[in-house]
Amino acid sequence: MRITAEQGDITEIQVDAIVNAANSSLLGGGGVDGAIHAAAGPRLLEACQELRRTTLPDGLGVGDAVATPGFDLPAAWVVHTVGPNRHRGETDPALLESCFTTSLGVAADAKSRTVAFPAVSAGVYGWEADDVARVAVDAVRAWDEENPAAVDEVRFVLFSARVLDAFAATLET
Ligand code: ADP
Repeated sequence: MRITAEQGDITEIQVDAIVNAANSSLLGGGGVDGAIHAAAGPRLLEACQELRRTTLPDGLGVGDAVATPGFDLPAAWVVHTVGPNRHRGETDPALLESCFTTSLGVAADAKSRTVAFPAVSAGVYGWEADDVARVAVDAVRAWDEENPAAVDEVRFVLFSARVLDAFAATLET
């Protein structure tokens, strides 16, 4: 698997699946979640509302993931995951690791060969970028070892130069 890091806006990336740092309501929020809903168009919110009505009446759990179409996005799929929120005391790295590995599984089940991730939990949810980078890179590498050739490429698409630096440094180790 090729694993890269770049600075950019994940809503513009041409991959099979982009991952959304959603909240458990799935009904939209700020940050990357708001940007993805704005770029995907109103059908994305309708698809999320349908998930809430049917399979996820209580919302999506921390560390879990679910796919919807990408609608107006260049990406075919959006994989929604819920990162741990440090401000609520969710400090267990295993929860964040699960966001990356579960999202890859959901993306692969949807036949995605290329997947883009943001820095889940590194914004409003309060995790340090260095910690997110370490957990994310280790999780993706471990998933690839357990699921060889299931996904060809993971691109970490980071909004800020500071977060990009954290991921680039971690990828060199
Ligand atoms: P969380 O609530 O999981 O912390 P946020 O959306 O607040 O999620 O932030 C996660 C990361 O996504 C932050 O580093 C933020 O700068 C970044 N981000 C915000 N908008 C975008 C975007 N359009 N593309 C990629 N990353 C983004």
